[in-house]
This record gives sequence, C-alpha cells and structure tokens, in this order.
Amino acid sequence: MARTSDIEKAAGVLRAGGLVAFPTETVYGLGANAEDPAAVGRVFQVKGRPPSHPLIVHIGGAEHLGDWVEDVPATARLLAEHFWPGPLTLVLRRGRRVPLEATGGLETVAVRVPDHPVALALLSAFGGGVAAPSANRFGSVSPTTANHVRAELGDAVDFVLDGGPCEVGVESTIVDATGEAPSVLRPGGVTREDLEAVLECPLAVHSTSRVRVPGQHPSHYAPRARVVLVEPEKVVAEAELAQELGHQVGVLLPPSFADAAVKAHAVVAVPGSMAAYARGLYGFLRELDQRGCDLIVASLPVEEGLGLAIANRLRRAAGPRR
Ligand code: AMP
Ligand code: MG
Repeated sequence: MARTSDIEKAAGVLRAGGLVAFPTETVYGLGANAEDPAAVGRVFQVKGRPPSHPLIVHIGGAEHLGDWVEDVPATARLLAEHFWPGPLTLVLRRGRRVPLEATGGLETVAVRVPDHPVALALLSAFGGGVAAPSANRFGSVSPTTANHVRAELGDAVDFVLDGGPCEVGVESTIVDATGEAPSVLRPGGVTREDLEAVLECPLAVHSTSRVRVPGQHPSHYAPRARVVLVEPEKVVAEAELAQELGHQVGVLLPPSFADAAVKAHAVVAVPGSMAAYARGLYGFLRELDQRGCDLIVASLPVEEGLGLAIANRLRRAAGPRR
C-alpha cells in the first residue's frame, strides 16, 4: 500500500503538471490535473489516444460535484448518493472549470468518486480534480496492477502509486444523466440491476450513442492475440482445431467445462463467480499474451449483473482491429 510520503509526492507531481498512475477499485488510472490543459494533453500523448475521446474527472467526494458540472439534476444526485464512492461515472453538463481538452471538445463531462483509499488520499492531498482514463495504451487491455502500468507505460509516467491489485477489475459504469431519462453508455462495475433498483425504472443500455465513448470503439480492451468468441460448448473443439492448424492457442475455459482436458498452448479456467471473473479478466488476457498465444478462444458469460460488463469487454476485445 502506498505510503503517506508517496501520496504527497504524487500530489506534488500533479500540481507541477505531471502524470501520476494511481489505483482505483476498477482499474489503474493515468491522472493529470483536470484543470491543466497541457497536463491533460500529455495523457492523450502517452496513451496514443485520439484527442476527441473524453476523460473521466475523478473527485474526492459527492459534495464537490457542483464544482465541476453546470447543473446537477435530481436523478444524478440520487445516483451519486447511492453509488459514490464507487464504480459509477456520471456524464453531466460541463462546468467552466473543466477545459474542453478533458472532455474531447464535448459540452458534457464525466465525473466519478473512486472507491479506493489510495485514490481518495491522492484526491484529498491534491485538492482538485484528476482527469484520468485507464493507464494503458489506447485500445489495449486496462491495467489492474501497478506492474501492468510499469510494463506498459514505463518512464512515460512521472510517478506510479502502487495500491495492490484492483478489486473490481473492469471499468466504471458510465451513465448519461444529462437528460430526463438516464441511460447506460458503458456497462461496468455497478450493475444495471442495482441502478434500476435505485431509479425504480428500466434503464436503456446503448451500444452506440450520441457521445463519443472510447469503450464503444469496435476494438478496445484488446490483447495482442486475436480473440475469437464461440458458444461455451464449442470452446474446447474450437481451441483444439486452431491449435492443430498451427496457432498458439490460449483458452478462457468456461466454468461448466472446467474439468475438460484441452490440447492448447495455455489454458485459464474462468472463475464461476462473476465478481472473480471481472477481477481477473484483464490479468488473464495479459497472461495469455505473455505466454505467447496468438489466438484466444473464449465464450461470453450470461449478460446479467457483472456478466454484462465482462461480455461487453470480451466483444470489444474480439472486435475488428484497426
Ligand atoms: P477510459 O475507459 O480509459 O477510456 O476512460 C474514460 C471513459 O469515460 C471513456 O469511456 C470515456 O468515453 C468516458 N467519458 C468521459 N467523458 C465522457 C462524456 N462527456 N460523455 C461520454 N463518455 C465520457
Ligand atoms: Mg481505457
């Protein structure tokens, strides 16, 4: 766990316009002072992310929300009260403090309060908002440990705060709360079911939307290896066929087939609990890359609860490459 002196140092780096990678409960973020256009610009540069793709502004508590957005509709306030700190991002009308560089030129801004002691300590020591996407190169797998960040971004980051492995493991749920009826722009760590229970109404989940959401690019969250999705009962046969054809096949073996002997290059048995699967997902994809796989065969979980976010990430990982 990060020490107080590390937190102070990281806050100093942010104040000086530098970049800090920091742990959250979802994934590691690559943070910059949200009010410093030049620092925000460096985030895009380091990630290789197109400047039109907005960042999330991380704040220290729901009580600061009004400082960052133009107005807070009752629905947004309700969701913030219920789910913050937590893996829920609210898209609202941009407040004047937020430069257009951080919002990809949009008049809306994405805001959240992360549920991680190190992230909260950093936000408190820094005192402002921290604009951060995931601390990985654009399009690739998000980091869930400090070592993932160091391996991928190395010296491009001024300071890496280590807070251990991320608990949730997939990114936040992004809810557009600007209009009358809120909608999900990206499924994530807060489930649709939990949101609907609080809102007491059904919630639309958009796979594409008016706003630009990087998580909506066809290929995103992708390992180096090509990802192929098949029905759970076809995973073993598909993997063995591809291996026979000369691929180095990695397998994400569905829980109901956990006992199957698979002739493949590398096999990861997927946890039966969706929370454990979400926590492990990006680590599994990184591991299969590292073990030299060029093809990963997987299936989609049932799209309920966290299964919705896991399926969304697997589909993007399998999407057409640029
Ligand atoms: P990352 O997951 O690393 O790309 O972190 C940023 C996420 O927040 C992306 O999916 C963004 O598209 C999303 N986001 C930030 N601002 C907005 C916005 N104004 N409207 C919609 N999505 C946003
Ligand atoms: Mg990302």
